[in-house]
Amino acid sequence: MNLPPVIAIDGPAGSGKTTVAHAIATQFGYVLVDTGAFYRAVALAALRNNVPLDNAEALVALAEQLQIEMTPADGADGNFYRLRLNGEDVTDALRSAEVEAIVSQVAAVRGVRQILNATFRRIAAQHPLVVMVGRDIGTNVLPQAALKIYLDASPEVRAQRRQRQVGERDPQKVQRALEQRDANDSQRTQPAEDAHYINTDRLDVQSMVARVRDLIAAWQARNPQP
Ligand code: C5P
Repeated sequence: MNLPPVIAIDGPAGSGKTTVAHAIATQFGYVLVDTGAFYRAVALAALRNNVPLDNAEALVALAEQLQIEMTPADGADGNFYRLRLNGEDVTDALRSAEVEAIVSQVAAVRGVRQILNATFRRIAAQHPLVVMVGRDIGTNVLPQAALKIYLDASPEVRAQRRQRQVGERDPQKVQRALEQRDANDSQRTQPAEDAHYINTDRLDVQSMVARVRDLIAAWQARNPQP
């Protein structure tokens, strides 16, 4: 069966995009690329190398010399992939509060975005089936994606999900961090005009995946095998 070669899934933190993308990747044989993890890796490297966040030039120079590699994982320990930074597995460190607090500042640097976007496009070109997750995949990174999906949810629901993921006791702390990141990311978190918008407030993971499967089936109906 013909499948959409590139699926772009965008949305804010806690909208369910990585979980859904992993399920689709597993069911249909897509390579999953979570672009947020790459930004987190640059943020982690900036912390470790004491690069000042207001020094865009130094952040770009740092990003230029990083080797970032993502490999699939089965999700059993809550991770849908492992990420290596210059050969070291930093998957767990990417989720730390320290990284979370600065990642959107790092991601705001234009030169950093240019370097990572080139990496994302190179990865997409290397695989016949790619599901790429982020903020601006459908609008900017891969505007030619065959299928574009924008997952959204209210700040309250997203904070609850994030709280469960990170195991933080204080719900208000999680919500404050999320709202801060929403504000910082607001400009680049936009649905593409041709994206399918799904509000996931009342959807569990299975229902979200079912919606995306329906969209894939509709795409297949429009694009029968030649
Ligand atoms: O998706 P995740 O929450 O892991 O993303 C971490 C951060 O990376 C976001 O808050 C955002 O600042 C940045 N990001 C981005 N563009 C993307 C993906 C993530 O700016 N395509």
